[in-house]
Amino acid sequence: MPHIDPKRLLNSLSEMAKIGGTQKGGVCRLAATAEDKTARDLFASWAKTENCEISIDQIGNIFARRPGKNNNLAPVVLGSHLDSQPTGGKFDGAYGVLAALEVIRCLNDSGIETGRPVEAVSWTNEEGSRFPPAMMGSGVFSGSLNLEKALSTQDINGISMSDALDAINYAGEHLCGNRTIHTYLEAHIEQGPILERENTTIGVVLGIQGIRWFDIIIQGREAHAGPTPMPARNDALIAASDLILQIEDIALQHAPDGRTTVGTVGIHPNSRNVIPGQVKLGIDMRHPDAGVLSTMKKELQAVFEKMRKERGVKGNIDEIWYSPPTIFDAETVDAIEAMATLRQYTCRRITSGAGHDAKYMADICPTAMIFIPCDEGLSHNEAENAKDAHLVAGAQVLLDVALARAGLLNADR
Ligand SMILES: [Zn+2]
Repeated sequence: MPHIDPKRLLNSLSEMAKIGGTQKGGVCRLAATAEDKTARDLFASWAKTENCEISIDQIGNIFARRPGKNNNLAPVVLGSHLDSQPTGGKFDGAYGVLAALEVIRCLNDSGIETGRPVEAVSWTNEEGSRFPPAMMGSGVFSGSLNLEKALSTQDINGISMSDALDAINYAGEHLCGNRTIHTYLEAHIEQGPILERENTTIGVVLGIQGIRWFDIIIQGREAHAGPTPMPARNDALIAASDLILQIEDIALQHAPDGRTTVGTVGIHPNSRNVIPGQVKLGIDMRHPDAGVLSTMKKELQAVFEKMRKERGVKGNIDEIWYSPPTIFDAETVDAIEAMATLRQYTCRRITSGAGHDAKYMADICPTAMIFIPCDEGLSHNEAENAKDAHLVAGAQVLLDVALARAGLLNADR
């Protein structure tokens, strides 16, 4: 079995991190900017050196294809994204792309001919920071997002995605997603603290949490803070405080996977000597199981009604967004776990709390992800960091699973 070249992988990661590198050691490489172009060009030039065929599709996704024995078979595709948040880290996204490239380099070094082609992909605009929404390139590729709509999306300066891609010479001609993919694999830092806390090297990702967003309005009555006796009040903030603790409780009742966050609070009129008359709450609710997530929604409605009665306030609750949970392909998940175990890496099954390109790919082909720990679980932060040994281990598992999927023995699957 071929081995990852640690030095080459780590060198490539640090070369890539220089592009858009910030003083605090992070990167700023927003989608379809000059920095993004430089990063794309570097990836493409490295892939060409490995004799890959490069193709760019209409939303600017870059595919570097290493042919297999039978090029009519659907390819095994590995990758992630090269764009970053404005104050992003060195590894979020870039790791998955360069681990994929390292897999191709290893296959070349070992002179292995796989049954299927193997492709490394860099998806356009995963972060959605300059052009919303996030995961745009994979969303268009999978057919979940509309190409024309994505291309007409404007940044805050009124520049469209289409013009921005033209300007960096990455408005490709290949149709988006007009072909079958055998398996999609994505290596990524965890972006959370679980693997590090448990001293575990590989996270075998089962899927991505479902998300529900709610807006709540609580209507009480404004009154003077001095003359109004406590029993005569109709304080919307006191009612909201009661509710917030009950919302926390919903997640705790569905531990360890349940998550509830009251991320925004708006108080009206927000004046020290006025009893708050209205409070708006912004709620984020997550769980990997769709059934549990809808139970949590019902519980939210129940605690809201109870609070209204007990506190004598009015108001309403609105669901403004639902993103269903993603469940990765069981066979591919098992393969990742088996390969990690074979290499004697510690591993555990884990659910992703963040969105990834793999979410959209899971809609169209067998998909799974490999997580590695990051320091203090920190990401979307210039201080984001990962250990060399973990970066190498994740790439090794990616190589092993890719080879199993693309190998001659499995070529007829
Ligand atoms: Zn990412």
